[in-house]
Amino acid sequence: MIAPDGNAASTIALLGIPVDLGASVRGTLMGPAALRTAGLGGVLEDLGYDVADYGDLLERDLVWTDDPPPANTKHYREVQAWTRATAQKSFEMARSGAVPVFLGGDHSLTMGSVVGVARHWQLQDRQLSVLWFDAHADYNTPQTTESQNMHGMSAAFLCGEPGLEGLIAGVARPPLRPDALHLFGVRSIDREEKQVIRDRGINVVDMRQIDRFGVVDVVQKILETVKARNHLLHLSFDLDVLDPEAAPGVGTIVPGGITYREAHLVMEMLHDSGLVASVDVVELNPFLDDRGRTARAAVELIGSLFGRQITERPTPTNAIVAPEDDD
Ligand code: MG
Ligand code: MG
Repeated sequence: MIAPDGNAASTIALLGIPVDLGASVRGTLMGPAALRTAGLGGVLEDLGYDVADYGDLLERDLVWTDDPPPANTKHYREVQAWTRATAQKSFEMARSGAVPVFLGGDHSLTMGSVVGVARHWQLQDRQLSVLWFDAHADYNTPQTTESQNMHGMSAAFLCGEPGLEGLIAGVARPPLRPDALHLFGVRSIDREEKQVIRDRGINVVDMRQIDRFGVVDVVQKILETVKARNHLLHLSFDLDVLDPEAAPGVGTIVPGGITYREAHLVMEMLHDSGLVASVDVVELNPFLDDRGRTARAAVELIGSLFGRQITERPTPTNAIVAPEDDD
């Protein structure tokens, strides 16, 4: 984990962003509370980190404007207000020297969280790559969207696609290079969205590639690319990337996702890379969850991302020692 001074971070900053109007299914506003109830803070403290919990962004923190909303954007005004407040807080958190972890909330919050951390890193002359774990590409624009839901436009917005310029007008916004966006675990892309992704040269690891080559190979390649560019990595973790068996508590379930164990392996590789500088955990919908299963899975996976090992390697104190023969 990388702190903004370039050294290993010892503090993790948590911020809940209870937004759910970017999605068609309501309920992700309960996500931050469910992640805390599932023990997120304790897991991180047990790993030796100091945890600075900033609580949740509140309605009163939101920043309202009155520009005309673009066509084909549901709840634009509210999403805009959440985005602006999130970007400001995200910048402050990154500047504090901690690794920011944003607890969603639907995936529209990433339009603010990434803008904030990217702005901070730009001031340090560093650039971000973004690893987008998601069953979906989230690369629609107001011109291409079929659903008009803004959580499906967040990756496109970050890469500077047209149509949402007013969302955060007046705020310094380092654009994300399309070739620094890595979609991972995708298995549902709209027709027009697919064409734009191809035209822009965005990196896509879909489920077919994961099945064919295995997660280790494909993740290794992504990490090598990020390292070769001397970028830092923001992980945007939409829980619907997981197979519904492991994560039923999301609004837009798509069968055939990565398994719980594959996800752990990826998280361990990301930890070992030392490249991850900030994280979003989004789309957890406790209203749809099965007795907290998805929230608990998310907390376990974040634990792996921050260095917890599921199978401890034997050490002199816990290794199994064969009994000596007494003849
Ligand atoms: Mg998403
Ligand atoms: Mg998704």
